[in-house]
Amino acid sequence: MTILITGANRGIGRAMYDAYVAKGETVIGTRRDTAGDGWLQLDVTDTDSIEAMAASLGDTPLDLLVCNAGIFKDRGMDIATGYPADVWAEEFATNVTGVFLGIQAMLPALKAAKGKIAIISSQMASDAVAAGGAYIYRASKAAVLNLGRNLARDLQADGIAVGIYHPGWVQTDMGGTAAAITPKDAATGLLDRFADLSLKSTGCFKTWDGRDHAF
Ligand code: NDP
Repeated sequence: MTILITGANRGIGRAMYDAYVAKGETVIGTRRDTAGDGWLQLDVTDTDSIEAMAASLGDTPLDLLVCNAGIFKDRGMDIATGYPADVWAEEFATNVTGVFLGIQAMLPALKAAKGKIAIISSQMASDAVAAGGAYIYRASKAAVLNLGRNLARDLQADGIAVGIYHPGWVQTDMGGTAAAITPKDAATGLLDRFADLSLKSTGCFKTWDGRDHAF
């Protein structure tokens, strides 16, 4: 299998990268700072960078694209003074537009393999878990959940399955040290979920440990 994971230099992306390497899969990680053996340079907010990534893969069929790169910059903001327009723009550019443009660029490679797309969203995407606050992050993760559900429908005819996932509350720079699970736990569960993903389950919204998530 050939697998590409965005934002794989640290956090959950890195744990998934390491887990696939340990399984002996061909895994390509992306990182913003540099390229190298097993690594492509990618900033998901930069269209030139997205096109260059797709071009460098050439005709290689892609079995799995994991859209993992994400940011959460509005954590703890105050409704009266926070949530400025530039943070809305940056977070949506990364968490939503970047996911769509990355998928679009990789479509020929995904079609060639009848591959799968895994979108790392969040429980904060769910309308059923409306705990308040973090409006930008919640809205961006809800948008990417909706994007994945609609792509699932449209790409079914190409044999491409799309799953959307909550990775758990994970001990990373984003999740913090108090989080519930390690990146390794999250990666172990997510890899099982990706293996289960098929055209039968396309459009699913699942937790890292295999439960259906409320929308
Ligand atoms: P981290 O902050 O630890 O890592 C984020 C990764 O995304 C880094 O590799 C970072 O690269 C990359 N990234 C950020 N912006 C861009 C960009 N513009 N272009 C390319 N790469 C970028 O986050 P986590 O590992 O915790 O999160 C991974 C995913 O899981 C995210 O989508 C997040 O929203 C989601 N998630 C995480 C949860 C958690 O508890 N941790 C809970 C629910 C969802 P760089 O090092 O260059 O900044």
